Amino acid sequence: MSYSNSDFTNCPEIPQVLPQIVRRESLPSPEGEEIFTLPRWNCFCCRDTGIVRYHLAKYAIRDYDPKRDANPICQRCGLGSRWMHLKGNIDMQISKDTCEKLDTWDRKNWEESLQDLLENNQVNKDFVDNTVAVIATSKSIRRRARTHEENQNAQYKHQLVSSDRYEAVQSEEE
Ligand SMILES: [Zn+2]
Repeated sequence: MSYSNSDFTNCPEIPQVLPQIVRRESLPSPEGEEIFTLPRWNCFCCRDTGIVRYHLAKYAIRDYDPKRDANPICQRCGLGSRWMHLKGNIDMQISKDTCEKLDTWDRKNWEESLQDLLENNQVNKDFVDNTVAVIATSKSIRRRARTHEENQNAQYKHQLVSSDRYEAVQSEEE
């Protein structure tokens, strides 16, 4: 619903101010850009908990079952000391040397995953940018109005632009 000036004739007099234009560069980065950072743990072996994380411990302890077995203490970072009171429920068998290796390995995995994520993000961004450019071009050279079916296809396509199914749909149509 839009108003013309005459709609406000009965409105009480309100002092009018000028709009404040948003300067986009002054806004904080949109969410999604900041998640692409490495976790801030000092120790990736135990993620600063003092207990070697399950996905790592299972490589160092045969058939390790966290529900059944004692907590493997991290000997790399010193935070394991906070669990020393749990006598009978701690396992000191994973050596400092092994914890060091698990830390390095997990850190490397995170860095690689992060790299993949960043590259995928760039691919998706390029894809969307290119798609938008193609759509803009095809719109500007359209010589006749869309048929009902074309309109529906266009709407469907529009809904899919940001989803990962778009590529498949697009190649079917070509
Ligand atoms: Zn640790």
